[in-house]
Formats: sequence, C-alpha cells, structure tokens
Amino acid sequence: MRIYTIVSCPKCGEYRIVKRQKTFKCFSCGEISTLRAELAVFSSDSAVEAMRKLANLKLMRRRSGGPVTSLSGAR
Ligand SMILES: [Zn+2]
Repeated sequence: MRIYTIVSCPKCGEYRIVKRQKTFKCFSCGEISTLRAELAVFSSDSAVEAMRKLANLKLMRRRSGGPVTSLSGAR
C-alpha cells in the first residue's frame, strides 16, 4: 500500500510529501492544490524512502533549474 506520495506544486514546482489526502498546500508558495495523478512524481509505503527521494529531487532541482550562484562552476 503506497501512502507516502511526493507531489510537485503546479505553481512553483516545489516538492513535498503527502499522505492520503485530497488536497495539499505548498510550503513554498502557499498554493492549495488538489492531489491528482499528474502531480505525483513518486510514491512509497516507506516514509524513509520517500524522504530520501524528496531530498534527491530537491537537490536535482537546485542543480538544474536553480538560480545561478557563485558556487556554479566550482567543480
Ligand atoms: Zn508552490
């Protein structure tokens, strides 16, 4: 049974974990969205796994689409 779902905010793209619920509120922009299949990027029955994946997604997003900082090109 998959109860931990990672969703992406349709407005700002922020990721967060939701459990079984009909709507969710974005921590970043405050947008309240209906939980629907196209917003779900990952789901698991393990909270640990879901949190690990969430950290990964956030890291990837920061690397690819984040604002250019002085750290860019450091490697
Ligand atoms: Zn948002």
